Amino acid sequence: MKYIAGVDIGGTNTKIGLVNNGKLEIKKSIKTLSEDGVIKTMNRIWEAIRELLTEKNIKLEELVGVGMGIPGPVKNEEIVGFFANFPWEKNLNISEIFENISGKKTKVNNDVNVIALGEAVYGAGKGSKSSVTIAIGTGIGGGIFVNGKIISGFSGAGGEIGHLKIVKDGKFCGCGQKGCFEAYASATGIEREAISRLMINKKNMLYDKIDGHLEKIEAKDVFDCAKLGDKFSIDIVDYEAEYLAMGIGNILNIINPEKIILGGGVALAGDILLKRIKNRLGEYAMPVTLEKGFEIVLSTLGNDAGVLGAAALVSQNKA
Ligand SMILES: [Zn+2]
Repeated sequence: MKYIAGVDIGGTNTKIGLVNNGKLEIKKSIKTLSEDGVIKTMNRIWEAIRELLTEKNIKLEELVGVGMGIPGPVKNEEIVGFFANFPWEKNLNISEIFENISGKKTKVNNDVNVIALGEAVYGAGKGSKSSVTIAIGTGIGGGIFVNGKIISGFSGAGGEIGHLKIVKDGKFCGCGQKGCFEAYASATGIEREAISRLMINKKNMLYDKIDGHLEKIEAKDVFDCAKLGDKFSIDIVDYEAEYLAMGIGNILNIINPEKIILGGGVALAGDILLKRIKNRLGEYAMPVTLEKGFEIVLSTLGNDAGVLGAAALVSQNKA
């Protein structure tokens, strides 16, 4: 049997799994503890992989490689330009570091790109030659999959869909620029919009739900109230859907993918949001991009997308 280890490195926890033929056979989660330095973290990850091998009675020789998703831009599936939230030095060759520790071929890519690869190869995009995965949470991340490959770009920043500009001189974004897609359409964007409206209009279900504590509002509250028929909340969902349709329309016009895969916390809203996006898409996407066969779907792998996608870095490269 041939196994690949998939590693999804996060700010707090690192998920690790063994994948055989696209099937996640065993997984575990360890603390990332990036403050201990890159070498210690990588050694701890290798230790965890070996524990999983032992637990499943898999010989070391049956492990053909290791794939990793990491927060930061990644070049050539090996060098991480900088780490979004770890105190590690710039331009580290993580692939080389881990190969030295483990003796196993190691491929690295950006964490969101890896999630997109997982969905494209094993999840909602399975069977499609091209898909764009959009993860809508606190921010908006994305990954572009075309003909078996994730587009990482010249300096590793490929797929940064959240920073598409959709409004000139618009709202400020965490990236320091203005008018970005994620400043409007992320969970944070929805919450900001809801708060600004709630300061003026307090006679609605949403205001009652959060007991007037505006700082406690979450995007989910807005969707929950909208589902119960609260007109005030439905208007905010409409606002959200409009910007999502605009951003997705722009992506369709550039990439023309077979599938758009929506993931992240906001996508859990499901139909109430999906229907509204579909209704408005024609205003922003060229008709040809919406031809029969094109679909917008929800992600299917959930929390396992990162580990499976990391393993796909190795399996796809062999193909
Ligand atoms: Zn931005």
